[in-house]
Amino acid sequence: MSRPISIPHHMLPADGRFGAGPSKVREDQVGALARQGRNLLGTSHRQAPVKDLVGRIRTGLADFLQIPDGYEILLGLGGATTFWDAAAFGLVKEHAQHATFGEFGAKFAAVTDRAPFLSPSTIHSSEAGTRAEVVAEDGVDVYAWPHNETSTGVMAPVKRPDGVDRAEVGTDGALILVDATSAAGGASVDLSETDVYYFSPQKNFASDGGLWLGAFSPAAIERIEQLGNSGRWIPDSLALTAAVENSRKNQTLNTPGLAGLVMLEDQVRWLNEQGGMAWAAARTKQSSDLVYSWAQASAYATPFVTRPEDRSTVVATVDFDDAVDAAAIAATLRAHGVVDVEPYRKLGRNQLRIATFTAVEPDDVAALLACIDLIAEQL
Ligand SMILES: *Cc1c(COP(=O)(O)O)cnc(C)c1O
Repeated sequence: MSRPISIPHHMLPADGRFGAGPSKVREDQVGALARQGRNLLGTSHRQAPVKDLVGRIRTGLADFLQIPDGYEILLGLGGATTFWDAAAFGLVKEHAQHATFGEFGAKFAAVTDRAPFLSPSTIHSSEAGTRAEVVAEDGVDVYAWPHNETSTGVMAPVKRPDGVDRAEVGTDGALILVDATSAAGGASVDLSETDVYYFSPQKNFASDGGLWLGAFSPAAIERIEQLGNSGRWIPDSLALTAAVENSRKNQTLNTPGLAGLVMLEDQVRWLNEQGGMAWAAARTKQSSDLVYSWAQASAYATPFVTRPEDRSTVVATVDFDDAVDAAAIAATLRAHGVVDVEPYRKLGRNQLRIATFTAVEPDDVAALLACIDLIAEQL
């Protein structure tokens, strides 16, 4: 870079946070923190005020996700990564099958594959930017894939695979586990196609990390009870039986971060007030469509995900021609307070990754794209 590029202030997005998690927190959520500062922060999580807060999160999420009868919202500490370990202990009986098409899906597959008390997992994987699928297989008791692969910007349908019947209580059927960490809160889903739809709060729910939440089917809860009482050694902090027991009392096994719960509750309420899942999905589609149509029309940028039906509505990835250095664009944006559009580090591409989560204003996405054009012309 010869001379630093300057972006006129009026062109900049009103909010410059486009990261894929931690992601933009709305000002009202921070306001909620200030409002709850005296009466809730710094008080016991075993008393009514915090338990009621957790209760509002659980019922708010049940509304938002339109959970089928009998499904329950459970939560625990540690985020989606910790949930993978908990799931290997408490949901996989013997043999898991995974579809992996990026870092996050692959990480969960590695957990079940290496667990010494399970048989090696079946793993269907595909190149970054494309999508693999699970297929019906005898002996598999858990099928798993991410709804949205945050590392590549590929989105997958949430649908029970052909030949895999719905798991009913008492029938020992295979469970469907969907990693919705970056999809939930910003994408539509029919939860009856899943048994566990789990996520962390720092993506579309615009809160802090450190927590996992999920909608669990009756069959999933039955499996948790079965494995919890099977004699398998399960560390206490990863025991899903404890998550069931505590969540039903609007608690967690050990102490949660209260600030994250306050911001999460505010976001869930906001999402429901705005129009719920359909509204959120339409808004992220509007924002991501701006990115993809801009990239398609651009002389130097192209959507990374070639199949339009695989393109994520919540995390848009764009490749740049060799002549345009995406890292230099990201650095210039960062110098102007527009941050976290760098690609997933291990992907190693000349790329930008733009989270179009529900909290992000579509107008800010449009402003970001104009800024990228301005920088690219001057590089
Ligand atoms: C961010 C992310 C994770 C990891 O979440 P943590 O809360 O950091 O454990 C897992 N899966 C997907 C799809 C993600 O986007």
